[in-house]
Amino acid sequence: MFLYLKKLNHDVSIIIPTNYPHFLKWLPNNEDFIIFSEKNQGVIKEKIIYSDIIIFIDVHNLYRIKPIDIFLEESKAIKMLIDHHDHLKNDDFFDLKFYDPTASSTSIIIFRIINSIGDFNMIDLRIATCLYVSLITDTGSFRFSITPETHYIAAKLLETGIDISYINNRIYSIYTKYRMSLLGKTLQNVKIISMYRTAYTIINAYDLKDHNYGDTEGFVNYGLDIKNIVFSLIFIEDPIQKLIKISFRSKGNFDVNTFAKKHFSGGGHKNAAGGISNKSLNETIKYFNSILPIYKKIIQKINL
Ligand code: 5GP
Repeated sequence: MFLYLKKLNHDVSIIIPTNYPHFLKWLPNNEDFIIFSEKNQGVIKEKIIYSDIIIFIDVHNLYRIKPIDIFLEESKAIKMLIDHHDHLKNDDFFDLKFYDPTASSTSIIIFRIINSIGDFNMIDLRIATCLYVSLITDTGSFRFSITPETHYIAAKLLETGIDISYINNRIYSIYTKYRMSLLGKTLQNVKIISMYRTAYTIINAYDLKDHNYGDTEGFVNYGLDIKNIVFSLIFIEDPIQKLIKISFRSKGNFDVNTFAKKHFSGGGHKNAAGGISNKSLNETIKYFNSILPIYKKIIQKINL
């Protein structure tokens, strides 16, 4: 969206509240990101206050853009939303909404916007690369939430000449030894609760630190690759934010978005969500084990 608006000669900045994973640092506009830090909070505040339009991409829950959400209070900008996360929050906050929770990624909605304006030809290699990355990372490389439109848009992006093997290598084959060894440890820690077709694993603060605070993106997906498992979780003890970050993945009709919202102040999508706990790691898992039986019927009914 940033690259497209730039092409239309708008004065655009791209602001992100927290740092993002290493495997995305090669993206064509990587150098344009202004990531929140003590040092640049003044610049961010000024940009937010003096903007005419603020576009919220891939996020509607203002809690998720902390700590820069407070700067919005002083902003008179038009607020525009482009997002696909379930259960729209802060509905009245946005003046313009391009919102579709059935879209497999937010890039689908961005593609629709650009295409419907008649600007498909403006989608150059750089823009197409970004859109394609969003498509593959949000669908687990075309495994989840796929519709005919997903493949249609993928095909249109391929027509621009993007280099698929380059993209795949940058996303999937750049893991550090820290990530690989943390993954090994995390998989060894998997606990299976057969009765509830559930697999969960943990990463404690010590292991996280010992592995250079390595990237843990996608670890939670492995649980669903175990035969008959329909609910997978990872509990990560975050020593910096001093909380437990939890990721949820499910198959079929088990709605982890509602589960995350109800029990762990979180949200996301029906089959992929996240949340937090302010209890200790042990207490969090104890609590999780105590609520799991509530979902026995729905979990057992899922046909794979
Ligand atoms: P992940 O488990 O990969 O961090 O996130 C899965 C999905 O859930 C993503 O779409 C992400 O935006 C959403 N999500 C993750 N953590 C949270 C959270 O704490 N609150 C909410 N509302 N959504 C979350």
